[in-house]
Amino acid sequence: MRLLLGLLLSLLLPLIALCAEDYYKVLGISKSASDREIKKAYKAKSLQYHPDKNPGDESANTKFLEVTEAYEILHDKELRGIYDRGGHTAVERHKQGGQQHGHNPFDVFSQFFGGGGRFGGERRGPNVEIKVAVPLRDFYNGRDTQFTVEKQAICEKCEGTGSADGQVDTCSTCGGRGIRIQKHQLAPGIYQQVQMQCDVCHGRGKTIKHPCPVCGGRKVVREQETHDLHVERGMPHGVRITYENEADASPDWVAGDMLVYLVEQEPQLGKEDDERTDGTFFRRRGKDLFWREVLSLREAWMGDWTRNITHLDGHVVQLSRKKGEVIQPGTVEIVQGEGMPIWHGEHSEGAYDMEFGSLHVEYVVVLPDQMDKSMEKEFWGLWEKWRKKKGVDLHKDSGRPDPKDHDEL
Ligand SMILES: [Zn+2]
Ligand SMILES: [Zn+2]
Repeated sequence: MRLLLGLLLSLLLPLIALCAEDYYKVLGISKSASDREIKKAYKAKSLQYHPDKNPGDESANTKFLEVTEAYEILHDKELRGIYDRGGHTAVERHKQGGQQHGHNPFDVFSQFFGGGGRFGGERRGPNVEIKVAVPLRDFYNGRDTQFTVEKQAICEKCEGTGSADGQVDTCSTCGGRGIRIQKHQLAPGIYQQVQMQCDVCHGRGKTIKHPCPVCGGRKVVREQETHDLHVERGMPHGVRITYENEADASPDWVAGDMLVYLVEQEPQLGKEDDERTDGTFFRRRGKDLFWREVLSLREAWMGDWTRNITHLDGHVVQLSRKKGEVIQPGTVEIVQGEGMPIWHGEHSEGAYDMEFGSLHVEYVVVLPDQMDKSMEKEFWGLWEKWRKKKGVDLHKDSGRPDPKDHDEL
């Protein structure tokens, strides 16, 4: 099967070279793309079109080869220069004049994802889980951002061979088996055979005379990698986004997935995401938002006030009461349509009309430290009026025993 595919590929390669499309177009990048952008585009497209992921799909195979060819030219500074000046013909002329480029496309793939460039049947590395904290503002508005993680990557210098000159030998101590049989004499004439890992090649069966100076022969390096992150409007706290085959890479396995959990960043006082300096913030629960609004005693009791709340995208939600409209402390007002955008699952953006949850405004009433004489008179007057109208008995309504009842006890 592999042989057949190899044959097919070798037949296809010259065909592609003839009708090659613009390399930048193939990778979907601009002429000024950075090295990082070229790599990123190659990784995404080669994963998408990998023959093992598209069995029997000829057009995917062709795309996979095109993407590989484009990457091989553009990531090489010299070849990119030649291509930029003279296009395909110049690159072809250069190739004929000297060194051969053009790896096995699976080797190129393997430089990023390991496992000999193949899926299925190969060993798979572990998945990795990470948390990325995002401010509530981004969950509300949606945002394209980036995050950086440290990961194990295949050494670029030696392309994962671990060797400075590309030379890898079969271990002469174990004959490439990675194990040695040791005989222990337990008693005269009685031997025990013990299987041990070969200590010369550490069980790999291969030795390297000149280790790669970058990775020291380990084939892999630790490096920082920056990934794009698309936060969709209304994504829930704890949502999982899968970055296929972006976990630790190794030539010995196909890299596992990187699972990114988006969590809500705690609002910080005095920082950019601070809504107000009095310590009131939007809080989220599912599709709803919560807000505490502080009223003075006079406002709660007399009404006649207006508040302009700046929402997470900057629009203003106006709250108000007319003169004489009382608000009891702890009252919760529900404003429909001012909560979080409702998310319908990954990649569903644009498929639904945007709908929103509700905003729950809790009113907190603060009492004044001191009351001036006129205010006191005003309040007592109002209080008496209200008490008479409602027939409220202070003792009864507060749950305290009525003094009258004491006599009977
Ligand atoms: Zn060995
Ligand atoms: Zn190396």
